Amino acid sequence: MLELRDLHVHFDVSGRRGSRIVVRAVNGVSLKIARGEAVGLVGESGSGKSTVGKAALRLVDATGGAVLLDGEDITRLGRADQRPLRRKAQMVFQDPHSALNPRMTVLRSVAEPLILHSDVRGTARWRRVAELLEIVGLERQFLYRYPHELSGGQKQRVCIARAIALNPALLVLDEPTSALDVSVQAQILEFLKALQKEMGLTFLFISHNLAVVRYLCARVAVMYLGRIVEEGATEDVFNAPRHPYTEALLSAVPWPEADQPAGRAPLHGDVPSPVDLPPGCSFHARCTRHIAGTCDALAPPEVEVGPMHRTACHLYTPAPGGGQGPVSAG
Ligand code: SF4
Repeated sequence: MLELRDLHVHFDVSGRRGSRIVVRAVNGVSLKIARGEAVGLVGESGSGKSTVGKAALRLVDATGGAVLLDGEDITRLGRADQRPLRRKAQMVFQDPHSALNPRMTVLRSVAEPLILHSDVRGTARWRRVAELLEIVGLERQFLYRYPHELSGGQKQRVCIARAIALNPALLVLDEPTSALDVSVQAQILEFLKALQKEMGLTFLFISHNLAVVRYLCARVAVMYLGRIVEEGATEDVFNAPRHPYTEALLSAVPWPEADQPAGRAPLHGDVPSPVDLPPGCSFHARCTRHIAGTCDALAPPEVEVGPMHRTACHLYTPAPGGGQGPVSAG
């Protein structure tokens, strides 16, 4: 359904005294998502995961690599040619409070994509919006309400109704529950899980919350400073993480006691600036297992560490001429 091939997204921004600086938000991301699959993209703030989501839908332009949707390269489609893309793929944003126009009723907000990208008009459009509200669990009385009359969870349900109005096959969900109260988060996640199953939707689910991704996604990709450092089946990655960054992220999650992994190094320090990427492995300054002279000089290649499980870390890089990498994988 969706394929990212060596995707790069760099932004030119103004520095001090009018100088130009380049923010390297995404640096060579490759990822394939099959139709009907739910894939989580996790990482700290500043890892580039939201930019990947936006680039997948052409909400920001790729500066290198390619985005393929259903096998079609959409990377350089002009604005006029993006209409079919809007029907196929939609985004749900983090903050439902700012995603809805305060001057539009729910009816108008949910009808917006139908007005822009379909021929559904008049009563048929009204009926379709009422049906969409039913799908997201809101009664018809909400049709004529304004955003200020809705709770956070109701607003996010309206945003989801709007996102599925055109029957898209792919939804990119960017932290869709993180602006909501904890009690409401659980309801929305449960609803999203059921919706994905019932509609056979493909999800790219962006989150910093690993527990949420474990609940919703069968596969997970871990991003650090614009690159995927580990990817695999969620249970494989969570039960036996290979990359030291994944291990550190998991060590910070308060799992139920039985699932709590023992002896993992916590995460220290901050993500380096995407303006000035470190040489070698971009995680080396924070990594408790870094190999001096290797990790700070050479970018680690991706290697298979299990069935459909890959990571980019020198601990697993095969030594030249065969055999184990520089250090036992442990
Ligand atoms: Fe740590 Fe080196 Fe692996 Fe990077 S490549 S995660 S620095 S061991």
